[in-house]
Amino acid sequence: MKRISLLGSTGSIGQNTLEVVRQHRERFEIVGLAAGSNVDEMIRQVEEFQPKIVSMATKEAADQVRQSVSGSTRITYGNEGLEEVATHVDAVFVVSAIVGSRGLPATLAAIRAGKTIGLANKETLVMGGSIVMKEAERAGVDILPIDSEHSAIFQCLQGERLDSVKRLILTASGGAFRDWTREQLAKATREEALNHPNWSMGEKITIDSATMMNKGLEVIEAHWLFGLPYDQIDVVIHPESIVHSLVEYHDGALLAELGTPDMKVPIQYALSWPERLPLSTPSLDLAMLGSLHFRPPDFERFPCLKMAYEAGRTGGTTPTVLNAANEEAVARFLAGGVSFLAIEEIIAEVLSRHTNHPDPSLEDLYEADRWAREMAKQCRIYAV
Ligand code: NAD
Ligand code: MG
Repeated sequence: MKRISLLGSTGSIGQNTLEVVRQHRERFEIVGLAAGSNVDEMIRQVEEFQPKIVSMATKEAADQVRQSVSGSTRITYGNEGLEEVATHVDAVFVVSAIVGSRGLPATLAAIRAGKTIGLANKETLVMGGSIVMKEAERAGVDILPIDSEHSAIFQCLQGERLDSVKRLILTASGGAFRDWTREQLAKATREEALNHPNWSMGEKITIDSATMMNKGLEVIEAHWLFGLPYDQIDVVIHPESIVHSLVEYHDGALLAELGTPDMKVPIQYALSWPERLPLSTPSLDLAMLGSLHFRPPDFERFPCLKMAYEAGRTGGTTPTVLNAANEEAVARFLAGGVSFLAIEEIIAEVLSRHTNHPDPSLEDLYEADRWAREMAKQCRIYAV
């Protein structure tokens, strides 16, 4: 029986994780759940999974959950509550699926407590990759990818040696605006940006897909997870999202993982690794599909991808600043305050004002994160 704490349980990854647990009650048990403000969904989850501990973002939300559930679940809140869920003594595995950089402290706490990590929260590695990977090594814990591209690469690396790898190739659907011109992008609305062609996901990552920042964050995530330099990490546009990513080896062999786009597959792989368990998901019918398409990414139309590569190569506090500026810019776009193209402009502006700290401590990273958020909130020139 694998006992699991799930951070971000009411979100898209969180609910898919619970569906995997439902399919394998004999293998997985929920110890802890943490979420932000979705009280109704949390109440349902507590009734169904009877966890030992639950945390909500605020005291008010925690009180509402407490009033509505029976049983012995301890219900707490805030950053401390989140860390309590992440480090609960009964959990051996922590699924990190909160959105954004607030996932970092909780993920670090879980690592320090010796929990195996199933990582969906890519912002954790973008913001603090150097420190997270060092701490994981020190604690002897595995960080298993849930992001579909990284799960694909991880699957293609099984039984192989990392020094035989020539490069990693991350596939990208291209998001909602794959074929749009810059003129069209300038007028893109919130609703259009939230309309992802292949995946149903949380709002923040869906906007990141539309700007292609998501792929940029994933390039940095891959750098940290697999320890390869940026010249060995490529991106290819693949509109169908059937090939989830590839590894090219020095002998010219390319290994890929394919499947219908269903996040339950990479979630379950992280939970069951190194085993594979059955999962009810539709089989991929290649003959019916007929053809798959690939083309190079367009760094001119999607400068966020370019900025992410550059920030990754610079290292230090720069990826932290990129990530924080992006989170704030996306929040401003979602709130209706700025245009779609203002997202990239805000990030570029904040990056241009940043002085990189090449070898930051954890406190330096938190400080860079705070600074970048403040700057990104202040950029007013582009507001519509
Ligand atoms: P989502 O918006 O659907 O869910 C976010 C979760 O975080 C919710 O449960 C929310 O309650 C919780 N949360 C927010 N603020 C919180 C707080 N202060 N304290 C505790 N919990 C809080 O997002 P998602 O799409 O599930 O994505 C989650 C993470 O997984 C992101 O980092 C995303 O990039 C990554 N990811 C998602 C997908 C996907 O298919 N959705 C795929 C790959 C990676
Ligand atoms: Mg992904």
